[in-house]
Amino acid sequence: MAMRNIREEGDSILLKHSRPVTDFNRRLHTLLDDMRETLLAADGVGLAAPQVGVLRRAVIVMDTNKEELSPEDQIIELINPRIVSSDGEQTGQEGCLSVPGVYGIVTRPEHVTVRAQDRFGNFFEAEGDGLTARCFCHEIDHLDGHLFTEKAERILTPEELEEMNREEK
Ligand code: ZN
Repeated sequence: MAMRNIREEGDSILLKHSRPVTDFNRRLHTLLDDMRETLLAADGVGLAAPQVGVLRRAVIVMDTNKEELSPEDQIIELINPRIVSSDGEQTGQEGCLSVPGVYGIVTRPEHVTVRAQDRFGNFFEAEGDGLTARCFCHEIDHLDGHLFTEKAERILTPEELEEMNREEK
């Protein structure tokens, strides 16, 4: 496994459309393993392949509803993911490893069901509430070249960011 560089806003690859994964081979597994390592090192909650420079429809998301598991075991791999149903609404803070230091207020569904394939090509469905649902939407947006900053009602001010950092400590 190896860490990969996280592409940041301004890099045009983040605005491109990713192609479906068709080969569930060692190359894909290496990409996913590297994405896992990169996500854990960055202490993030989700990562999409284009964020590490690969225009393929693969994302990983931390299922933060499963706090009893180790971070490594909370990771869900979603290949060719598609949102099949969503309901409710949540409005809250959102950030992105590709837009460091910036947080915005974004409205997302409260509950999301995703149909995807695993790393071997088997289809499955994953459900998420709250932060996990937000993450599913955010990461799938990356596959279509969208960043959360486009969807944010507003970006947090430096004062609000300071407040947020204080609350975290
Ligand atoms: Zn992101």
